[in-house]
Amino acid sequence: MCRKKGQRYSVGKGRIMTREEKIRAMQERDKSYDGEFYVAVRTTGIVCLPSCPAKPLPKNVEFYGTLDEALKEGYRPCKRCKPEEFDEGKEGKQI
Ligand SMILES: [Zn+2]
Repeated sequence: MCRKKGQRYSVGKGRIMTREEKIRAMQERDKSYDGEFYVAVRTTGIVCLPSCPAKPLPKNVEFYGTLDEALKEGYRPCKRCKPEEFDEGKEGKQI
């Protein structure tokens, strides 16, 4: 067993995406990727959905498989794309 920590693939809905694919989805604002991963922008400290109109530079972003992960790292949900609302809607839980 020798798993390298450097390789980061998120396993959101079971789909495995490379960083390049995520960057492309982000740049094309592809809504079908919303919820698959979240885009955290190091320079602003916010976390966005891939379809957010904000266009950060790829070198400044980190990707997370879940919103929780990004929030734990200290990122705050973007006020434009509201990833936390998307996250709630996705679960569809009514407690
Ligand atoms: Zn956003």
